[in-house]
Order: sequence, then structure tokens, then C-alpha cells
Amino acid sequence: MKYVIFDRDGTLIVEKNYLSNPDEVCLIDGVKQGLIILKNLGFEFVVITNQSGIARNYYSIDDCNKVNQRLSDILAKFNVEIKKYYICPHHPDFSGKCNCRKPETGLLEKAIEDFDIDIDNSYFVGDKCSDIICGQRKNIKSVLLMSGYGKTEINKCKADLSFENMLEFAREVERGLKS
Ligand SMILES: [Mg+2]
Ligand SMILES: [Zn+2]
Repeated sequence: MKYVIFDRDGTLIVEKNYLSNPDEVCLIDGVKQGLIILKNLGFEFVVITNQSGIARNYYSIDDCNKVNQRLSDILAKFNVEIKKYYICPHHPDFSGKCNCRKPETGLLEKAIEDFDIDIDNSYFVGDKCSDIICGQRKNIKSVLLMSGYGKTEINKCKADLSFENMLEFAREVERGLKS
């Protein structure tokens, strides 16, 4: 299956540092329409998210799951489903090194295996170079959006593609973008 693998904060929902309150979950402009287009093009969706707030003891894995559930509830209103949320709860300074904190590829490899992701026809979409590098390490086309940290990250790495927002990305895919 072809997938769009999303970062969560700053990509799907408004970046709020160390978000732990489901009531603060707010879709970024263009995400709703963009995801509907991508869904209609036959893409499935997963999220891979770094949540070092857990290692820092700012919030629990349960809090993080509640935020994810709220996002899923919002997306369900227009029949969009995130198949799975992959969470890295670590931070090297607090819990030691791990193989799952983006740009490490542990979670991406798991997702590829879990869902038999078609690498050649999938995309990794995020707002940070850690997202871009993670996707590129597994030869998945990387897409940097200008939401979240995108505008400050754009010169720090070389994304395969970049767009102002999710809707522009989806429209470009729809136009039959091949590379
Ligand atoms: Mg992000
Ligand atoms: Zn990790």
C-alpha cells in the first residue's frame, strides 16, 4: 500500500511546545482538505512522532495517547483514519540513546513492516529536518511543510519537496507528481 507518513506536531496539528492537553489539539489550515484529497487518491496514513516530553516527565504516555485520540476523533469527522501512531518517548539526555527518535529510523522501519508500505510510492511529511532525514534514510520521498518549524528548518536540510501547506502538497500529488 502507498502511505503518507506524517509527523504530528507542526505538521497535522498546531505546534504547541510539549502539548499534553487534548483540548489544545487544533488542525493546521489545509490539513483537512489535504488529507481528504490524499485519501481519495488511495493513500493510507500513519503518524511517527517524537515525544521527548515523556522522557522529561512533562506528561505521560497516556496523556500522549489522549492527544492522539483527539486528533483521530477530529479526523474521523471527515472519514480520515490514522492507522497507527508510532511514538518515541525518549530523549538522549533523559533516557539515553534510542533507535526510534527521528531522524533514527526504528519506528519508520516498524511501520514499513507493519503495513507493507510501498516505499517508492509513499511520502514522509514533516516540519523538521529530523523528519526529512528519517524519510530519506529509508528512500521515502520527503516533504517539508512551512507550518510548525518548517520556515526555520528549510535551509538546514534538503527535502525532496516542500510546500506551503498540506493542501498544496496534496494538490501536487493529485497532479501526478512522480518525483
Ligand atoms: Mg513536528
Ligand atoms: Zn526513542
